[in-house]
Amino acid sequence: MADKVKIGLIQLCGCSGCHMSLLDLHEKLLDVLPNLEIVYAPIVADVKEIPNDIDVFCVEGGIRNEHDKHLVEEIREKSKIVIAWGTCAAYGGIPGLGNLYSKDEFLNTIYSTVSTDNPGEIPNEELPELLDTVKPISDIIKVDLVLPGCPPRPEHNAEAIVALLEGREPKLSTKIVCDDCPRKKEGTYPEKFKRTFEGTPDPERCLFEQGYTCMGMATKSGCGAMCPKAGVPCRGCFGKTSAVLDQGAAAANAYAASGKAALKIPDKVALFNRFSMAAALIPKKIEK
Ligand code: SF4
Ligand code: SF4
Ligand code: SF4
Repeated sequence: MADKVKIGLIQLCGCSGCHMSLLDLHEKLLDVLPNLEIVYAPIVADVKEIPNDIDVFCVEGGIRNEHDKHLVEEIREKSKIVIAWGTCAAYGGIPGLGNLYSKDEFLNTIYSTVSTDNPGEIPNEELPELLDTVKPISDIIKVDLVLPGCPPRPEHNAEAIVALLEGREPKLSTKIVCDDCPRKKEGTYPEKFKRTFEGTPDPERCLFEQGYTCMGMATKSGCGAMCPKAGVPCRGCFGKTSAVLDQGAAAANAYAASGKAALKIPDKVALFNRFSMAAALIPKKIEK
């Protein structure tokens, strides 16, 4: 091994969970750490300036404000490889649901109902300007690798790091969650959908076919169908596969086959686009 790989880590509009998933590598960290030099990671070390000539930059979180935008542009200029690390960076993640509201609605709600200091007063200085919407980082810069998941699986972090060290493409799944799910599908559609806590699901049968709002058919695999294996519908946290342009549209298409039952789902937008609203195509068309 020649020089160490210089790596940068940053959290933008995210929760730090992706950083924690790196620590979840446990003893595997010992295999990769000797080959890495972490040159920028504000979450663990106080380095003010982003250094030049970074080999790999892992960006957690999407773009919410002008400061995030400025940082990610600087990161792009100074890095050879930029990874959209986790679903917030890749597709906006849960913060992207804020795009259902205008910037003014968002600020008024936060500062009139949540803030206890000077309620109703919206600060206009010393805070970076909010953008109109949360954006995946690929809306602002070119991204070299998408590592989805909320958070990404530790083994995917390891595979990405090792692949980059070895100069090859990481081996990541291209399938959907249903492909990894052991539950039996009979090709039927439910007459009505129900909440996760209603009834007791049959442990063998597909949750969607039992009327639970599973997103496995519209979600990239990689987690080993962790949730449906545990009796909980997939919520879609790995985002879309490369075979489709929009996760929400893929889910809507699958649910439409159940006819009237799907029409009665109360919050279809947040079900189908829970993790990918900021990357959804229809709002982008309306923005234009
Ligand atoms: S992808 Fe999930 S774990 Fe990562 S920053 Fe977003 S919310 Fe947190
Ligand atoms: S339970 Fe969900 S993930 Fe499993 S086969 Fe059915 S729709 Fe797919
Ligand atoms: S089953 Fe779905 S929601 Fe659960 S971890 Fe996997 S992709 Fe995420």
